[in-house]
Amino acid sequence: MSRSNASSDGEGVLECTDCLDPADAFALVGNETRLAILEALWAADERPVAFSDLRRAVGVRDSAQFNYHLQQLTGHFVTQVEEGYAFKHAGEKVVRSVIAGSFNEDPSVEPFPVEGSCYACSGSLEATYEDERLAIDCVDCGSGHGEYAFPPGGLNDRTPAEIAAAFDHRVRHLHCLAADGVCPECSGPMETTIVEAGDCCLGVGIRVDHVCRQCDHALCSAVGLRLLEHSAVVGFHRERGVSLDDRPYWTLPWCVSDEYTRITDRDPLRLEVTMALEGDRLRVTMDESLDVLETCLEAR
Ligand SMILES: [Zn+2]
Ligand SMILES: [Zn+2]
Repeated sequence: MSRSNASSDGEGVLECTDCLDPADAFALVGNETRLAILEALWAADERPVAFSDLRRAVGVRDSAQFNYHLQQLTGHFVTQVEEGYAFKHAGEKVVRSVIAGSFNEDPSVEPFPVEGSCYACSGSLEATYEDERLAIDCVDCGSGHGEYAFPPGGLNDRTPAEIAAAFDHRVRHLHCLAADGVCPECSGPMETTIVEAGDCCLGVGIRVDHVCRQCDHALCSAVGLRLLEHSAVVGFHRERGVSLDDRPYWTLPWCVSDEYTRITDRDPLRLEVTMALEGDRLRVTMDESLDVLETCLEAR
């Protein structure tokens, strides 16, 4: 596959033959006609889009001029196939990020109450939206129950309860990807480490940090969040009338607090998360990559 030689001035050092220097990539799409081409491709009912249809949609009369701009995009942002033109991932990302802002340009949501109570003091919980991040905190003691980026478009046409439910799904999904070693932002390799000290948005002492080796995207969580889909954990709750699919993760103390997590061994590292329900307890032992080694049920 070829790449544009936009960095032939010798400045940008390319590490792979398909990669563009970021500055060159931005320069390529920093042009009204080229952005219009990407948006037209986005708006098309079907892709690939034939050259003449694309040109008509963008509204450029001069075919040579249109072709020049289209060729600048082809390779990195757009791919040419027999039937016409389609997106490459980067091209779709550009349009998505341009359009995502327009879904809701000035998001404002008043803090609203959410289901559950504080794991630390039993106070009420409230969601706040700031800087395009949604956070759930205790109204009384301020304990954090999770915070994550939430695109403003996600606020549209949703009641506060629906926003909270969407946030719950989003956090579970993204953390699951990260724990499986896939960066939610760039799909690069994600590294998971157990961290015992330091501060994070959650204020938990023993926590999990996921950091992408490729793009540095980072997420943190309590250790228990990894267990939401583990069969023994799901079963333990189901047998006691709790469906983990229907409960927002922040209403489960072992998902948000480190109080239920213990380091039982250091060499090799072993963690134990304990969950209690109806007087019974389930103890789950995990290794440092958060794989479950064993579960132990202590029934009343
Ligand atoms: Zn509290
Ligand atoms: Zn990444």
